[in-house]
Amino acid sequence: MNKLSDFNMSIQYVKGVGPKRASKLKKINVYTVKDLLYYFPRSYEDRTKFNKLSQCENGEKANLEVTVSGSGAVMRPRRGLSIAKVPVKDETALGYLVWFNQDYVINNFKVGDKIKVNGKVKRMGREIQIQNPTYEKGDTGKKVGRIIPIYPLTKKLTNNEMVKLVSNVLKQYLGTIEEILPEDIIKKLKLMSIRDALINIHFPKDREGYKRAKTRLAFEELLILQLGLLNIKNKYNKNKRGIKFNKTDYVEDFIKDLPFSLTNAQRKVYNEICNDMESYKPMNRLVQGDVGSGKTIVAILGMLKAYKSGYQSVMMAPTEILATQHYEGIKEYLKDRGINCGLLVGSLTKKQKLEVLEKVKNGDIDIVVGTHALIEDNVKFKRLGLAITDEQHRFGVRQRAMLSTKGHNPDILVMTATPIPRTLALILYGDLDISIIDELPPGRKKIETYSVNKTMKNRVYDFVKKQINNGRQTYIVCPLVEESETLDIQSAEELYDELKEQYLKDYKIGLLHGKMKPKEKDNIMLEFKNGNIDVLVSTTVIEVGVNVPNANIIIIQNSERFGLAQLHQLRGRVGRGEYQSYCILINEGKTKVARERMKIMERTTDGFIISEKDLELRGPGEFFGTRQHGIPDLKIANIFSDMKILKVVQQICDDILKEDPLLESNKYIKIKNRVKNTFRDKIDNIAFN
Ligand code: ADP
Ligand code: MG
Repeated sequence: MNKLSDFNMSIQYVKGVGPKRASKLKKINVYTVKDLLYYFPRSYEDRTKFNKLSQCENGEKANLEVTVSGSGAVMRPRRGLSIAKVPVKDETALGYLVWFNQDYVINNFKVGDKIKVNGKVKRMGREIQIQNPTYEKGDTGKKVGRIIPIYPLTKKLTNNEMVKLVSNVLKQYLGTIEEILPEDIIKKLKLMSIRDALINIHFPKDREGYKRAKTRLAFEELLILQLGLLNIKNKYNKNKRGIKFNKTDYVEDFIKDLPFSLTNAQRKVYNEICNDMESYKPMNRLVQGDVGSGKTIVAILGMLKAYKSGYQSVMMAPTEILATQHYEGIKEYLKDRGINCGLLVGSLTKKQKLEVLEKVKNGDIDIVVGTHALIEDNVKFKRLGLAITDEQHRFGVRQRAMLSTKGHNPDILVMTATPIPRTLALILYGDLDISIIDELPPGRKKIETYSVNKTMKNRVYDFVKKQINNGRQTYIVCPLVEESETLDIQSAEELYDELKEQYLKDYKIGLLHGKMKPKEKDNIMLEFKNGNIDVLVSTTVIEVGVNVPNANIIIIQNSERFGLAQLHQLRGRVGRGEYQSYCILINEGKTKVARERMKIMERTTDGFIISEKDLELRGPGEFFGTRQHGIPDLKIANIFSDMKILKVVQQICDDILKEDPLLESNKYIKIKNRVKNTFRDKIDNIAFN
């Protein structure tokens, strides 16, 4: 008899596995009995319905009930090849079961046997063959006559092997599977028990069984995910009374002095922010707006409002380049207003850093901009009122939460250009209100996008020269080579040399990559901004936020290696001013998908459509960088289609946490353990401990 603890037992010790098969299973991340049972089929083959021999089409897979109508025979048309044929019939036609080089099979059949077979149909003239079929005598219903799971596999592990293994493990270990959901929830929602669900997800009796199993498992998965995420947030967000900021005309006057007028969308979002800030409830707002929609200025308005109520603001950006740019920009906007700004990034000297820290602490700095350096322990504010995270998709849930601990329930604003489907928004930002800037500043021209291959290089550079001669500037972005920063830099350096010596030798070319000293990076960026560099060759460090309106061409090398959302972000580096802008994707991908992806980029400049497509093509884990977000990968729940289940989950979460906020009771302790296990490797700080 197997014990409950066997559920987490190493798969290697299961009967029929052993070290060799265990190492194959490792390749698909199956280490324990539990992993195997939670390794769900990718699809199913319905072998419950039977075809008729006469209707079998060449090339299709058929499922048949036949009777052996004669004795089997073996033919040897040439050396090394033998063909075993067993004649069969049903009420519609005659046919043959055929095997190659397996003479012995014919001994398994005698005239009159009733068998079920499943195999590929081959029509040879008028002869109907079923080649290399799976077959079964009698009514065992193991391989034919039921729904067979099809597993996502690696090399060397066959589907048959998996089917057999899962089927054995289900039999042997079913008793070790614990129900983690309390009775009343199961009853209330009419969920399947976990044991039935696992049986049915692998070997569904029928469609209904499959659907109920999937619902139950998706519910469980989303519940664990949501409880985990809610807890990360709650840890930092217990007290609910925040700051009530004053109404002020100061900001309105500032808006009047801007060199442009706000778009309607910016105005609407700023009003939403004002409403939040003027109430005691801490603001928790996500501002979503496509690249170039003008999020920064909206954030600045919020910071001014905080300043006028005597509070400090902080703005965190994912890269030093971007933080520095924001800092410079904000200083420019606010000059002559007596507002003190500070910059806090990793590359400051110790002395500079201490100085900034001191000023932030004693309140001499009103607005501080920086990178991750802002969430270090030594950063203390005198009176933090507003915490802003820019390009928030680059940060994890925890980092965002940590920034807000720097004050006493400060208002929180997070900004992102990466639109996300509503379902995912609810999971990630369950507690966030969402504002959308759905309008670009006037006069922006659509960025013309072309996908070309390397052979067009000369024409592309000729075009660049023409644009430079008209006073414009160009970015050239080099690819991500298998996540290796060193290789990225190499390819950027090579291209830089090549351009300097050949194609663009009469022009000023700059090089920018992540490994350069921050000072050097700043210098290059500044030179580019001031127009002293015509062409900036760069790695993806310029991806987020960089703003040089005079640049109107971006060339992306090996664009097939980028995600679509990332290409869209990069493309957003141009088209930021009055000039017609161009994005040239140098594509060396030969596959159909690669071409399709480039087509999407050529056709649409709508970030929302692009993200959805990207998400569809790559799945949420890769799309967001699971690790950064602390989101465990979803195995069965689907963020597009399981909206209904998610809604129920959120309601239940609410109920559970009201009843037992720390999940301490016997009723919820198993759920708590599952949450801890699921998030263990993802997040080092779980509130439940
Ligand atoms: P993003 O939303 O991508 O962060 P930014 O805030 O960097 O965009 O703004 C992009 C550019 O648009 C900046 O040069 C900014 O000055 C300009 N901009 C912002 N709002 C407006 C507006 N209402 N009218 C004209 N230009 C604007
Ligand atoms: Mg921005």
